[in-house]
Amino acid sequence: MQPDLGFCSQCGAQGEIGTKCEYCGSIISDSQLLGNHSMIESWSDYQLDGFSIVCEKLKGYTDVSEVQVLKGNRSGKYGLVNRYGNIVIPCIYDQIMVYLDYHLCTVSIDYKNAIYDTDGNVVIPFGDVNPMGVFVIQNNLIVGYNTIFDLQGNIKVSLPSYDRIVLVSELYASTFPDARCLYDVESGDQLLSREFRIDKIIDTHLLIVNKVFDGFTRYGIYDAVHRKFVLKLEYSSILKQGNKRYVARAQTDQNNGVTQSITLTFSVDKNKVVIQKQDIQNMQTGSGIGCLSMLSLILLITFSLCWIV
Ligand SMILES: [Zn+2]
Repeated sequence: MQPDLGFCSQCGAQGEIGTKCEYCGSIISDSQLLGNHSMIESWSDYQLDGFSIVCEKLKGYTDVSEVQVLKGNRSGKYGLVNRYGNIVIPCIYDQIMVYLDYHLCTVSIDYKNAIYDTDGNVVIPFGDVNPMGVFVIQNNLIVGYNTIFDLQGNIKVSLPSYDRIVLVSELYASTFPDARCLYDVESGDQLLSREFRIDKIIDTHLLIVNKVFDGFTRYGIYDAVHRKFVLKLEYSSILKQGNKRYVARAQTDQNNGVTQSITLTFSVDKNKVVIQKQDIQNMQTGSGIGCLSMLSLILLITFSLCWIV
């Protein structure tokens, strides 16, 4: 004989009426039937006594999402309900974040973290694999503290980082939140150390990187396949100036009191930097003659203005 199924009024889990809920220990009652509803067409109409929908814990966009985060009003904990009204993850978790595009969610309880699919199946269990931080899903990969998993929960690589990492693309990772170091996700190798900061990825394998020299931040371009800088770390800025077109600027003081300004215009094509134009201007700034010529220029302008008036 089938046992009579009811549901837990605290967390929404199903169980045999009169027994203790396996998740939260409350008594299962038959006060409300769950599941096997016709498909929910609008989440704004969804009502369940003792529970409320929390929309902001969903990432990704759909008109009517396949699941919604549910909060147990009495316990204050979170779970997941699907479009048939089934509570697929009971409301026993401190945190939950749903990634709709991946049909996965991150859940946490007592500062431990796990990954479930949106049907409630375990993908990465609570355990020691990710003791120091939450999971984030990005670029078709699951990122733990310094470990990267595929979407099935298999370990792809553990990076040699003491800091939490984040993906800058499907292929490369850096530390979170300060974007230091560069790691190759495929090989697990560290490509750049902590003194390098990742500014921007501009092609699959090309990155704008900066480093501080004597208090000045200098930018360059790093080729992560050939593992070398293709534009040296000597520019005060590298800025985008249109589609795949960039301008790098540098200013250096020469020994003879001359300041040299370099403006380099380049484009990026198939992971190569293609220099289009390089302007070099020398300005006499440091010497008396320079000051004098600047002064005479100002005088000349003033004089001209007087003349016009
Ligand atoms: Zn329960």
